[in-house]
Amino acid sequence: MAYNICSTCGIQLEDAKHPPGSCPICTNDRQYVARSGQQWTTLEKMKRRGFKNRITRVESGLHQIITKPSFGIGQRAFLVRTKSGNLLWDCIAYIDEDTITAVKGLGGIDAIAISHPHFYSSMVEWSEAFGGVPVYIHKLDARWVQRSSPNTTFWRGEKASPLSGLEIIHLGGHFIGSSVLYWSGGATGKGVILSGDTLHVVMDRRWVSFMYSYPNHIPLSARKVRAIASRIKQYAFANLHGGFEGGDIIGNADRAVQLSAERYVDHLR
Ligand SMILES: [Zn+2]
Ligand SMILES: [Zn+2]
Repeated sequence: MAYNICSTCGIQLEDAKHPPGSCPICTNDRQYVARSGQQWTTLEKMKRRGFKNRITRVESGLHQIITKPSFGIGQRAFLVRTKSGNLLWDCIAYIDEDTITAVKGLGGIDAIAISHPHFYSSMVEWSEAFGGVPVYIHKLDARWVQRSSPNTTFWRGEKASPLSGLEIIHLGGHFIGSSVLYWSGGATGKGVILSGDTLHVVMDRRWVSFMYSYPNHIPLSARKVRAIASRIKQYAFANLHGGFEGGDIIGNADRAVQLSAERYVDHLR
């Protein structure tokens, strides 16, 4: 079996003897092909090269999972632990026995939900490792899925609830199906958003940005940014955690998102 993984973005493809010449995610204008050209790897090769996943607590009921050394675009996944079960929000390419044992020690995974295609990574491997749990993907981004599975659950519309107390909210923008996770019980009941890069926490961690492409610096229109701000406005949340290590807004994050949208639209004028 050769489930090839793109070394630049971390997405895993269908089983194939020979990988394609290019990665559909990286040749899209939101991404890029590495200077060294298209490179592929597999989980077995990554294991031999000494990759490990580091699991650390971010706040009460929330752990982040990050591959070291950094792989793909440096994504992080989150394990949200609630009374109704555990959800893996977003995903990373690498998974091994140590990871599975550690995550089982935290209660395992009951469902997986992904913000957008840059985090699809090895989602089917993760689902199968935890008993074939459902993987929630917005139907609008279905064309970007590169490894099919009966566990993939395409959802439609404005929101879905994979577990009680957790809502996936469709915001669009970066990708047409881009979504965030709302965890009302997070931050001791003050609310938490996990945002991937639909709402991208920037270097000044009081702000987020809204881009069509982050690496290629292609902005979104004012109309789309206003639509995102309007959809998220009905949710109260203290903390927001983006898709990359250190991208955390702690306290008044709902206000930070609204101010960020206003600032962004002002600069487009
Ligand atoms: Zn790629
Ligand atoms: Zn992205």
